[in-house]
Amino acid sequence: MNSRLIDRFGRVHNNLRISVTDRCNIRCFYCMPADNVVFMNRKLLLSFEEIERFARIVAPLGVNKLRLTGGEPLVRNELHVLVRMLAAIPEIDDIGLTTNGILLTEQAQALYDAGLRRINVSLDALDPVKFREITRREGYERVVAGIRKAQEVGFDPVKVNAVSVRGVTETEIVPLGHFARETGVEMRFIEYMPLDADNAWERDKVLFAREIIDTLSREIMPLVPCDDQNPHAPATDFVFEDGIGRIGFIASVSQPFCASCNRFRLTADGKLRNCLFSLQETDIRSLLRGGAADAAIADAVHACIQAKWEGHEINTSRFVQPERPMYLIGG
Ligand code: SAM
Repeated sequence: MNSRLIDRFGRVHNNLRISVTDRCNIRCFYCMPADNVVFMNRKLLLSFEEIERFARIVAPLGVNKLRLTGGEPLVRNELHVLVRMLAAIPEIDDIGLTTNGILLTEQAQALYDAGLRRINVSLDALDPVKFREITRREGYERVVAGIRKAQEVGFDPVKVNAVSVRGVTETEIVPLGHFARETGVEMRFIEYMPLDADNAWERDKVLFAREIIDTLSREIMPLVPCDDQNPHAPATDFVFEDGIGRIGFIASVSQPFCASCNRFRLTADGKLRNCLFSLQETDIRSLLRGGAADAAIADAVHACIQAKWEGHEINTSRFVQPERPMYLIGG
């Protein structure tokens, strides 16, 4: 059944995010526990061949955009090999990667040569001390070098993701605004979401997009909305009024964009999720390893999309934080 993945609310799903590992080389407090993380047995992770088969099954259902994530995707051996396999699927015309950038200097060229064109690097702070406080690891210089290398090999634009947490990242807003203007990266401020491993999220800890827009407009110069917005992109984009420095905001908490969501997610252990905040999963790995035909797997994907809720409900008393924190889902 090659029909498109349209849910009960008319949302068309063409965008699949694929997590390739739960492992990570840093320990950001809003995502992972500080220590003693028990990672998945590697046998539970989908192989590149299994991921490719799944992508070939969903591509005729209208999926043309893929994004690789994790955990930290660059700790998965030979990731560029997977990129090449996915880039060879005729329907796929856009492959992206979200990375913390620590291993990017070494891998940027191979990824670009394999067909990757879109890259987001996560960097919450330009102050190395603040970086260590958030990530609980070293590596600031490597991330900055990785961003530079990505620009050198031709990724354009390089987007830089910064999670915004009240009481922690306010001091980084203006430096990151200048960073966008000086380097040409596109900054994307992401509101802190309830997906941390420690269950410490509180609404009061969310530094809202509106506050960041006000700070940047006051301290640097006014921001104006971009006129080339993609209605399905989670970010709302602005540019400084002199045209230099593009800044996006992912206001998942203060301005949820569920109504235009076109995404679903495959976890590293092969579970399909129709929302970051979903409480249910579809076990694709069992189907892949149990001899299921492609049509049966396509049916399971359709059923998963049909079960998608109208919205994530973070702002209601009904909200229940999913058992999997962000690093186990794939951000
Ligand atoms: N390791 C890669 C990285 O750092 O980009 C990919 C995975 S990471 C989970 C993907 C994105 O999710 C990162 O930009 C990260 O900052 C963001 N993230 C993780 N936990 C978050 C949370 N609780 N709220 C908002 N964003 C979060």
